[in-house]
Amino acid sequence: MTLVALSGGVGGAKLVSGLAGVCGPGELMAVVNTGDDFDYLGLRVCPDIDSVLYAAAGLNDSVRGWGRENESWNFHHSLPQLGFESWFMLGDRDLATHVLRTDWLRQGATLSEVTARMAHALGLAFDIVPMSDDAVRTHVDTPEGVLAFQDYFVRRRCEPLCRGIRFEGAGTARLAAPLARQADAGAVQGWVICPSNPFVSIGPMLAVPGLRDRLGQRRAPCVAVSPIIAGQAVKGPAAKMMAELGLEVSALGVARRYAGLIDGLVLDRRDAAQAPAIEALGIRVGVTDTLMTDADSRERVARASLELIARCG
Ligand code: GDP
Ligand code: CA
Repeated sequence: MTLVALSGGVGGAKLVSGLAGVCGPGELMAVVNTGDDFDYLGLRVCPDIDSVLYAAAGLNDSVRGWGRENESWNFHHSLPQLGFESWFMLGDRDLATHVLRTDWLRQGATLSEVTARMAHALGLAFDIVPMSDDAVRTHVDTPEGVLAFQDYFVRRRCEPLCRGIRFEGAGTARLAAPLARQADAGAVQGWVICPSNPFVSIGPMLAVPGLRDRLGQRRAPCVAVSPIIAGQAVKGPAAKMMAELGLEVSALGVARRYAGLIDGLVLDRRDAAQAPAIEALGIRVGVTDTLMTDADSRERVARASLELIARCG
């Protein structure tokens, strides 16, 4: 039996790591957004998969919030000497991941196979599965035009107004086989939507028909953890995007966004007053301190998610 966690990068990776700490070996499958993936200097970069891999293996830089700790930047700083200025930074240690992934893909492996191989090599006792082996690419509609995700997120630092989001390729992308097998065998005992960006991390996953349909037809409960605490995102553009897309920036706004999809929502204590309004949407509420700053807090939020799944069952 498997718990399936839908995850973006940093926020998702924290809860996935917490769930890995409270689930037994082989009981957890993290399904990760690939809408941010892109090709850089011939390398396939999968930011959210890497965030989950690094966080789960304890290799992530928790201060910077992305990439690997003890990183060096010789590769990046050597590029301008050769006449190439880049707004996208790849650390030297991180580079090994992208070079290997690209080589294995070129030899014919799927992204699911490559990811499983890396997770295994890093000694992880749970599965990490890209949402699809087919390319899905997030684009953000802004007054500056339609920007590819990394162009919006990294080069433009999420500054342009977000008028809409599209997921190119999602309509025909097939759900990655490992999740399809688990779901179709009735082996999924619960679904957790991590506290990831609802628009650009969870949005691309829900745009993959095979995932959306299985979630819609599920028998096991689905709970989410709010990425919004006290009206703010912990990190990143989730709050800004929510406001720009006309949603209330609150746990209630998150609940409205996921209404019809989730059975329960874990909120932060600071948002407990919103519980009745969320319950009025037919969503059960769990309340805990949802800020994840260390292994204990990650496991606390993981346990709160599992308790809410049990209450929703
Ligand atoms: P990204 O792909 O790296 O942008 O990461 P995600 O989409 O997975 O996570 C970004 C979201 O995580 C943001 O909306 C944050 O508010 C949320 N987040 C980050 N850390 C925490 C945390 O400790 N607790 C909660 N509840 N949300 C968090
Ligand atoms: Ca991401």
